Amino acid sequence: MTTTTKAPNYKAPSGWNALLPRRIARQQVPRDRRFRNVVVGAGYTGLAAARRLAELVPGEETLLLESSTVGEGASGRNSGYLLINPGEPSASAAGFAGEWATRQIALVQAGVDWLRELVATHSIDCNWQETVPAITAAATPRGERSLRETRRRYEAWGIETREFSAEDLRRILGTPYYCHGIQSLTRALVQPAALHRGIADSLPAAVTLLENTTVESLSGAAHFTVGTSRGDFIADRVFVTNNLHARAFGLARDRMIGIYTYGAFTPELDGEQLDLLGKSPEWGALPAHRMGTTMRKTMGRLLIRSGDSYERELEPAAVRAMLTALHRKRFPAMRTHAFEHVWGGLTAVTHNGGFLFGQVKPGLFVSAGCGGAGVTRGTIQGKLLAELACGSQSPLLSDRLAQSGPNWLPPEPLRGTGAKVQIAWEQWLAAAER
Ligand SMILES: Cc1cc2nc3c(=O)[nH]c(=O)nc-3n(C[C@H](O)[C@H](O)[C@H](O)COP(=O)(O)OP(=O)(O)OC[C@H]3O[C@@H](n4cnc5c(N)ncnc54)[C@H](O)[C@@H]3O)c2cc1C
Repeated sequence: MTTTTKAPNYKAPSGWNALLPRRIARQQVPRDRRFRNVVVGAGYTGLAAARRLAELVPGEETLLLESSTVGEGASGRNSGYLLINPGEPSASAAGFAGEWATRQIALVQAGVDWLRELVATHSIDCNWQETVPAITAAATPRGERSLRETRRRYEAWGIETREFSAEDLRRILGTPYYCHGIQSLTRALVQPAALHRGIADSLPAAVTLLENTTVESLSGAAHFTVGTSRGDFIADRVFVTNNLHARAFGLARDRMIGIYTYGAFTPELDGEQLDLLGKSPEWGALPAHRMGTTMRKTMGRLLIRSGDSYERELEPAAVRAMLTALHRKRFPAMRTHAFEHVWGGLTAVTHNGGFLFGQVKPGLFVSAGCGGAGVTRGTIQGKLLAELACGSQSPLLSDRLAQSGPNWLPPEPLRGTGAKVQIAWEQWLAAAER
């Protein structure tokens, strides 16, 4: 199995991006091929790094290279939750000691704050919502026990969370499927492709964004040669922010695995069908188990995200069948359970939840390994990576540098076998949370 392809190549376009007007990709190759900085990958991490470099040293030119187009990568095909969880986005938050968790939360909260500021400054139209119900919901007694434990943990960290009864959940979400819920650590819900586009299209003038351009090789020291599908570029500094695909450059090859997960949108629903999804015009529901199902009622549609597969994207027909069954289970009374858009997306997962962050060698910086909460985490890590490169100091950067990175994973075939067994086991444990 190849685990080091140069860039993702999805089987279906992002449903979120498909809802937006057509956007013209930036693919005018710059005449000058020498840049102070090259950033590889324009997801939330790369966008944040490139923007922050331009803010800190506006006179220096940065080239930001993206193999796909903005809105089509994982950053534009996720579920749009801006989470501040110190660990997994799901409720399971075991093992985080008080002060460590509080500092983690402060770090990720800084990512939310920066995104909020950018949305306001550049009038980014991304359906940014801070007050809609965003609940972690349990469908099983085991899930309920886990949520009660999570709530106790949140309270130990000084975070008040509301509880929701089965009746509350039926009223808000429109389904009797769930038995217990707590307010999640979601700080905002967004249209992720619109946010991603808005941030990319408001980059400072010192950043040149070049889409549909894959970085194929990286060589040199002091001056790097960045080999791309549109020829070579030379840079003093390179920032590798292409998440799992950092492995293609020999980075964290034995530390990250790729897990695909899947999303789907119903068509726009009429008033009667929308009423079956509860009275609130928008809501978000996260699962009580990390292998569970995420949902949103948003923009007159239902979004559903679920499923996990190791390193290989499932066929769209199989994904559609799986998500349709999950939809039907939760909302049996809907007139139809058909989807208009179905897609998959790749996340980078590490065994201990640690992220790769820092300077690998002089001039070469990396931030990769953002799993399920990369909108906020990628944003703050990208920002801090630029600050690290520019010699800035801050308590947030010190906290980030103090964290341990991802731990070692055995080689194939052991790695794949172990990951598949763990996915199957956790999916079994997740039971009806799926
Ligand atoms: C279905 C789904 C739902 C999710 N839901 C959420 C959620 O609700 N909230 C949340 O916070 N996170 C969520 N995530 C995870 C989130 O999308 C990621 O953590 C986040 O996108 C990571 O950002 P990033 O910039 O580090 O990486 P990416 O978004 O993966 O960006 C890396 C970019 O690098 C580009 N690239 C790769 N290789 C190359 C190369 N060789 N040359 C040039 N460019 C390259 C890729 O095309 C990509 O655009 C979800 C993910 C999926 C798939």
